[in-house]
Formats: sequence, structure tokens, C-alpha cells
Amino acid sequence: TALIEVRDASVRYLSTGRTALGPVDLTVDPGRLLLVAGPSGCGKSTLLRLLNGLVPHAYRAEITGEVNVDGRPVAGRTLRDLSTVVGTMLQDPRRQVVGTTVAAEIAFGPENLGLPREEIRRRITEVAGRLGLTHLLDRATAGLSGGELQMVAFAGVLAMRPRVVVVDEPLANLDPAAGLRLLGELRRFVDEGGAAVVVEHRVDDILEFAPDEVLYLEAGRTAYRGPVAGFLRAA
Ligand code: ADP
Ligand code: ADP
Repeated sequence: TALIEVRDASVRYLSTGRTALGPVDLTVDPGRLLLVAGPSGCGKSTLLRLLNGLVPHAYRAEITGEVNVDGRPVAGRTLRDLSTVVGTMLQDPRRQVVGTTVAAEIAFGPENLGLPREEIRRRITEVAGRLGLTHLLDRATAGLSGGELQMVAFAGVLAMRPRVVVVDEPLANLDPAAGLRLLGELRRFVDEGGAAVVVEHRVDDILEFAPDEVLYLEAGRTAYRGPVAGFLRAA
């Protein structure tokens, strides 16, 4: 069954009274990476916020339609509840990473959940090993490179064991080698039964993500939804 189901959904920000997104429909099955593209202001970030609950929890907005993640409606769930289902990667890891050391950063989410110390330790070891961060666990996050920091941010997301990750322009702050490493780990998460929704505004770069599907938004509405090949032909 689908990990993400959006039916006839739209978002209107109350501060402006304007509809920023929708109506849109989409489905993302386990094992699939959806790439969301489109010009600045087309609603990409708003779509991510609809999936991770930041609208309406952090941005006052009116939402219509239906949004289900992992088989349950997003509406009515707390951010804490959603944080175990949907992981969010911000564009700039400097805004995301709050831990002073790498280990503290990975522990941050599980600690907020109140998980037992042993379980937190287990998750740190597992996630750091998986992402090749074991040798960095005691390092201060302030001294890391942009690529290392982005991977540490991803580690913090994976430590919550989400079913879905939403990712905002992950290549924007990375050199090509670090970008490839991050995309490799993202793909592995998806291949192991997760789902990812990735935003990228540079259409020239979207092949790098090897997306299973592309959603192209224009002024909040679906201008194209389908395989990447068809999208590139139409572009
Ligand atoms: P993108 O991520 O594609 O640049 P956004 O989702 O950020 O698009 O924005 C979609 C539309 O919603 C734009 O017109 C933008 O100005 C507006 N918008 C974004 N965030 C807010 C907000 N917090 N309050 C009001 N309007 C917003
Ligand atoms: P992004 O890279 O997410 O598109 P922007 O630079 O467009 O960011 O917007 C920065 C912040 O301002 C975001 O939090 C966005 O939600 C908010 N914002 C964007 N457009 C508007 C708007 N028309 N009214 C109020 N807030 C807005």
C-alpha cells in the first residue's frame, strides 16, 4: 500500500489569503523516489510542509483535501507523532543540525521521543555505521564540511526510523562528490522500502536523482506528473 497519498489537496496561507498549492493529487509507493520540480514560488516547499505537518503546525494555513502518510491522515497528528513517520531534510544543514557533536545530533530526535538510553545508543551506532560517520561521532558539528554536515543531518533523520523522507534541494550546498554520496544513501533508504519526496528547482539536475516519478508544478498546480523520460521530452 502507498506510503503517501494526497487527494485533491490544496493549501492557502492565512497570512496572505492566497492558495499556494493545489489542488494536487499524488501517490508514492514504498521503494519510490518522487522528484518535485518547478520554478521558484510554484509550491514545492509548501508540498513538503503539507507532508511533514509544518502546515498547519508551523505555518498558519487552510488545508483542503486528504493527505495520508503510512496509511493514516496527517490531519490531527502531532508533530511529534509525525516525526517518527516523516523525516525532513532542510536545504541548509546549518539550520537543521542542533547537536554540538555528531553523536549528540543523531541522538537528538530519539532523546526527544524519550527512548531508553540503550536504544538511543543502538541507533547512533547503527546509523553512523550505515552512513560512514563512525569516525566522526565525537567531532564537533561546527567543524564539519558542508558534505559531512549534510550527511550528519541525514543521520539524525534516519535515527527516527521514518517511513518517508522529504528533502529540500539536497544538492544546493554540496560539491558533486558529496552530492553523489548523499543521493546514494537516499536511494538506499528508498530501496529498502522507504519513500522519498525530493524538491529540486534546477531541471538540468533532476536526472542525477534517478527519480521514479517527476511532479512538475506551475503556480501550485500539476503541469506534469509521470516518468522522467516523458518529462524531459516535454521540457
Ligand atoms: P517554492 O518552494 O516552489 O519556491 P513555496 O511553496 O515556497 O514555493 O511558495 C509557493 C507560494 O506560496 C509562493 O507564492 C510563496 O510566496 C507563497 N508562500 C510561501 N510561504 C508562505 C508563507 N509562509 N506565507 C504566505 N505565503 C507563502
Ligand atoms: P524557499 O527557499 O523556501 O522558497 P523563500 O526565500 O521563498 O524560501 O521564503 C523564505 C521564507 O518566507 C519561507 O519561510 C516562506 O514560507 C516565507 N514566505 C515566502 N513567501 C511568503 C509570503 N508571500 N508571505 C509570507 N511569507 C512568505
